[in-house]
Amino acid sequence: MNGVLGPIDTADLGFTLMHEHVMVATPAMRQAFPDWIDRDAVVAHATNELRAAMERGVRTMVDLTPINLGRDITVIRDVAERTGAQMIAATGFYWIEEPWFQGWEIDSLVERLMREITYGIQGTNVRAGIIKAATDHLGVTELNKKLLQVAARLHRASGVPISTHTNVHHHTGLGQQDVFAEEGVDLSRVVIGHCGDTEDVEHLEQILRRGSTIGMDRFGLDFMLPMEKRVSTIAALCKRGWAKQMVLSHDACCHIDWFSKEMVQQLAPRWSFRHIPDDVLPALRAEGVSEADIRTMTVDNPRRVFERQGAY
Ligand SMILES: [Zn+2]
Repeated sequence: MNGVLGPIDTADLGFTLMHEHVMVATPAMRQAFPDWIDRDAVVAHATNELRAAMERGVRTMVDLTPINLGRDITVIRDVAERTGAQMIAATGFYWIEEPWFQGWEIDSLVERLMREITYGIQGTNVRAGIIKAATDHLGVTELNKKLLQVAARLHRASGVPISTHTNVHHHTGLGQQDVFAEEGVDLSRVVIGHCGDTEDVEHLEQILRRGSTIGMDRFGLDFMLPMEKRVSTIAALCKRGWAKQMVLSHDACCHIDWFSKEMVQQLAPRWSFRHIPDDVLPALRAEGVSEADIRTMTVDNPRRVFERQGAY
C-alpha cells in the first residue's frame, strides 16, 4: 500500500491512528498571503507531536486532510522524514460545496484523483493511500452525491479504501452508505468517520450491520462529547461484539487556521496524538474493554482496512 515515504507492508502498520491532520490551512489564504502559516514552525510542532505519540507506541498515522482543506503533501512528507513515522496521505474532497465543482464531470475528477494514487501528489512521488469523502449537516445533496460518487468510482478503480467525514447527529453515514452501495462499493471496505460523537448505540449499529467500520475518531473534542461518554459508547459496542468494526483516532490538527490557539487550548486541551495512549486506553480498560479488543481496534482493524487492496 502507498505510504508517504514509499510502500508500506500492511503487516508493519502496528498501532495506527486512522484520522488525524498535520495541518488544515485554507488554500486561498495561503496563496494570497505567503505568511499565512509559518511553515517551519508547523513542521517542527507536528514533528514533536508525532514523536510524542511514537514514544507511546503509535507506529502509523493516517493524515486524512482532503485536497481543499489545504493538504500540503510537502509539509506531510517533511514530518514523515523527520519522525520516521509511517504516514498515509489522502486524496479526495471536503463536503463544503465549492462553485467549481458544479462544472466538472464525475469521471474526469476520478481520473485526476487517480493520478494522485498512481503517480503522486503536487508534482511529488508521494502517492495517496486512502480516499477521503465527506458529508455534513446538509446531507447527501445533489452536489454531495457527486462527491461521494467520485470517491466510490475511484475506490473501485484503484482498490484504495474510503474513509469519511460525517455529521452523526444528522445520520449522514447512512446516506453515504446508500450512495456507495448504489455504486457497487463493498461497504466493508469503507470507514464511516466521526461516529464517536454520539452515544446513540442503536444508530451506530445500523451503520455497523451494513458491514462498514466506524471511526471513533474525535477523542479530545470533549466539548462535542466528553471522553467518558465516548469511552462508554465504545465499551457498550464491544460488549455487543463490534470491536472488529471500530477504529480509534483524534481528528487532531497540529495546526488549524479555523480557531485561535487560545480557543483550542480552552475548548480542547487534550486534543493531540497523545490523548488515546495516555488517557483513552486506560479509560477503556477501566470500563472492562479487553486487551484483545483494544488490539483489534488499534492494530488489527487498520491492517484489515488497508489490506484489501483489489480493484473491482
Ligand atoms: Zn478530519
